[in-house]
Amino acid sequence: MNLFSTESKSEEIVHLYIVIAIVTVISFLCVGLAAIFIRLNRQLNTEIKARQATLAELRENERNLRFITENSADVIWTMDIESGKFTYVSPSVYNLRGYTVEEVMAQSVEELMTPDSAERAFNSLAESITRWNSGDHSDTRRVTEIDQPHKDGHLVSTEVVTTLHANSQGQLTSIIGISRDITERKKSEEAIRNLAFYDPLTTLPNRRLLFDRLEQAISHARRNEGRLALMFIDLDKFKPINDQYGHATGDKLLQTVARRMQRCLRETDTAARIGGDEFIVLLPEISNRDDVLMIAEKIREALNKPYPNINSNELHISACIGIALYPEHGHTEKQLLKNGDSAMYQAKESGRNCVWIYQPEADVIAEQETQLLRLNWKKAYESGNDQIDHEHKELFQLAAILINNAMEKDRYHEAFDHAFQALHDHVVQHFAEEEKILAAYDYSDLAEHTKLHRELIDQVEHLYQSMRAEQLSMGSLIDFIIDDLVKGHLLKKDRKFYPLFRQAHKQH
Ligand code: GH3
Ligand code: MG
Repeated sequence: MNLFSTESKSEEIVHLYIVIAIVTVISFLCVGLAAIFIRLNRQLNTEIKARQATLAELRENERNLRFITENSADVIWTMDIESGKFTYVSPSVYNLRGYTVEEVMAQSVEELMTPDSAERAFNSLAESITRWNSGDHSDTRRVTEIDQPHKDGHLVSTEVVTTLHANSQGQLTSIIGISRDITERKKSEEAIRNLAFYDPLTTLPNRRLLFDRLEQAISHARRNEGRLALMFIDLDKFKPINDQYGHATGDKLLQTVARRMQRCLRETDTAARIGGDEFIVLLPEISNRDDVLMIAEKIREALNKPYPNINSNELHISACIGIALYPEHGHTEKQLLKNGDSAMYQAKESGRNCVWIYQPEADVIAEQETQLLRLNWKKAYESGNDQIDHEHKELFQLAAILINNAMEKDRYHEAFDHAFQALHDHVVQHFAEEEKILAAYDYSDLAEHTKLHRELIDQVEHLYQSMRAEQLSMGSLIDFIIDDLVKGHLLKKDRKFYPLFRQAHKQH
């Protein structure tokens, strides 16, 4: 057998080629796989690095976030919607409210905020949840002002900004909130509002606020057929106080005047400073003019009392008060302001330190004439006794002077006091004289008549004291003097003894 035959050699060569081809393919495959492996490995490495970088970035962000939340002056918090419990509260809550994070997290709604604030917070939250549930997810941010109790008891004004957060299924899960202390901002806003509506020197409302309130009061009175009063108050001779003691002392006096004025008023009334030494008082609800006159008189008296320590000086000042009433002296703000001002000028012209109610010129004359007509002496009033008639005439005159005085000032004042005193003294003296004359004539009803005299004097004195004590109007005192003392007694009761004198005349 020929081991090295040509046929077997070529087979071997074929096998060899096949082996070489297989090896070559395998080698190529290995190289390819190695290349793929290397690429995959590279990719993996890149991805791992990217993830590591993202993680590092996330950690960095979280650190930053934690730093911000834990060091922010604002309180940052999260709350679970279902349980209504805080899931996180930043430590600055201690600075805001004086409670620790743990204490705050255990607090009930009542402990967290005032009832008013709780209502506002719930309404705002309910509104944004309703919107979310109706499909509107665009705007869940809400800003609400909340008053929160501090541990020491005072209230902290805060502005709370909230947004709602949902899970991946779109269900609302939590609220994220930021609570900010706005006490200072509130104070600034208050200060700005005060500047706009209050007089900085006296802290009384200024002209603008007064006019607003007047407008409202007129509308209210118009709707309810009510009445209101405006008082114009201007200090008398204030300029000389500035000149003599300096502007700062003048300022202090204005402040004290403002306080005294306020003390005479109810909470619903407004005393406003509308200029230098000018004030306006608005009484938005009054029942009658006598009440207004009484309040005006109270203010006049209060301002007229000495000011014992104004920058170490004892000062004295008085004021003129002009009054206009709605609806009788004007239906609009303009008319009332004009007529109140004019009444104040009338008060200045009549000698200062007095109250003057607005009266159109024609009304003043007509009213005075009516009153005076009622006291016109007539021959028919003569008794037949010269002394009694003389004294009666004088009493008529004194009563007329008193009425004149009352009409001029339309309020109790010093001149009225003098006129009243003169009338009172005359009546006492006249009654005593009359009793003596009647005794001389043996008047049978003398005891009864003397008793009437006593009663009249007692009554007039009592009424006068009541008027001084502001329990009775000046008009009522005047009516008593005209109707009871002059007309009722002199012209009626006294008539009973007139025949006594006529008989005596005949006998002579
Ligand atoms: P009358 O009896 O006629 O009212 O005279 P009066 O001296 O009070 O003068 P008038 O009411 O016309 O003027 C008020 C004065 O008040 C004018 C001004 O010198 C002074 N005045 C105005 N504003 C202020 C202020 O803010 N502080 C002080 N101290 N004085 C003021
Ligand atoms: Mg003045």
